Amino acid sequence: QMEIHMPHVALLSSPGLGHIIPVIELGKRLVLQHNLKLTILVVASQTSEAEDQLMKSVMSDKLCDIVEVAVPDISDLIDANDGIVTRLRVMMRQVCPSLRSVLCSLRPSVLIVDIFGFEALSIAEELKIPKFIYVASHAWFTSLLIYTTVLDRQVQGQYVDQEEPFQIPGCSPVRPEDVFDPMLDRNTREYQEYLRVAFGMLKSDGLLLNSWEDVQHKDLESLRDPDLLGGILKVPVYGIGPLVRPAESNSQDSNRNLFDWLDKQSFESVIFVSFGSGGTLSFEQTTEVAWGLELSQQRFIWVTRPPTAGRADSAFFSTGDGGSQQSDRDDHHPSNFLPEGFLSRTKNIGVVVQQWAPQAALLSHPSVGGFLSHCGWNSTLESLTNGVPMIAWPLYAEQRMNATLLEEELGVAVRPKVLPTKKVVERDETATMVKQIMKLNNNPIRDRARLIQHSALKALSEAGSSFIALSQLAQQCQKCPNQ
Ligand code: UDP
Repeated sequence: QMEIHMPHVALLSSPGLGHIIPVIELGKRLVLQHNLKLTILVVASQTSEAEDQLMKSVMSDKLCDIVEVAVPDISDLIDANDGIVTRLRVMMRQVCPSLRSVLCSLRPSVLIVDIFGFEALSIAEELKIPKFIYVASHAWFTSLLIYTTVLDRQVQGQYVDQEEPFQIPGCSPVRPEDVFDPMLDRNTREYQEYLRVAFGMLKSDGLLLNSWEDVQHKDLESLRDPDLLGGILKVPVYGIGPLVRPAESNSQDSNRNLFDWLDKQSFESVIFVSFGSGGTLSFEQTTEVAWGLELSQQRFIWVTRPPTAGRADSAFFSTGDGGSQQSDRDDHHPSNFLPEGFLSRTKNIGVVVQQWAPQAALLSHPSVGGFLSHCGWNSTLESLTNGVPMIAWPLYAEQRMNATLLEEELGVAVRPKVLPTKKVVERDETATMVKQIMKLNNNPIRDRARLIQHSALKALSEAGSSFIALSQLAQQCQKCPNQ
């Protein structure tokens, strides 16, 4: 009987772990805290083992229905040089007909999509149901994304060649070198697809952001202010984060040696080094990171991947190997690419993990006291919610903005003087940064990390801003008639 009156939310995730994780966390809250019925629509592409495991664990929770929508073959529609936004957009476009039939038979009362799924908003219009966009990132990035619809008209030439930072009304300026990857070259299909995403942002009935008032008040207000970005956007903006996934429940058992080692280390003495589900470094950079860690004499856990030729990027992801756990492949063994003798010299102070580690569980372990990270937004939030200070090492997507936010606005990170995508970060600089964030006493960066952690917990608690924002959204859903 209850079921009949319960509004039914359909939540659409585009492919990739970095998109699926925040969607699932939002979904869990809608069900557990706000009593809504939920179906998660996952657009499945080159599914990785990590993705599979995650989906299995969600299914076993039985909190919601999960519908996997398969992507038709897109190989004729893209070429090898196309970037990640283009690939995602092509997949999401191709999947639209299947999505339409799924949604028409589900007849949800509300549709929530991520930023790459905006085309599905037109299906919500056909069904005459409210539609929201969930930006699994922060408010400053969202401002840049939306303001690109204006910058595209205003700025002549390449964004990266501009001398002055971009002034986004009401927000911190964005340095040309920090722009989102697809803006690096305006003469590409990647930029055109990104621009469509930017215009797509204007088509919803409201935005949900994985961030919170206390840390991004200024940017959230500018998105709401009718004289600033709110004048472009014109819909409510909800700061509902930080939504992070809890520590993997089975991680202790399947990584016994790692956690046994960590249990023996002293409080906040270990730095965790990882570049997300897709980040890779060049050979030269891998060598310098290894020496930097060794020189710092700090204890560490390092998730390694075989280096890629050329510059550091998200090659691992775009080759379709993202998030896999194929640790048994010979060429993936770290002794093939780490400096000679590194593994034996550091065996008492560090652990090298191949390809993939249970990051959420590691960051919440009391022995972990620092995170050298590529600054993916999920990783960033996992660090912030555990009060772990960071070395911000941005590689791709919007990570350069994230790094700037972490260092300059939040004060919880240090970062290399020159962007790691521009120049190899040398060993001494790495060692110095490691020592700087890991110093236990009189360290303002650590103090700030604690403060932000408390602010995050408060935002999510029952009287907190994010809890209230999600309640408001849930109330709006409650008013939607069931189809
Ligand atoms: N992750 C993990 N183990 C790894 C690498 C990544 O558990 O070895 C998880 C990480 O905890 C985060 C997600 O994968 O939740 C990566 O998302 P993020 O937004 O940080 O970066 P992306 O991989 O999308 O660039």
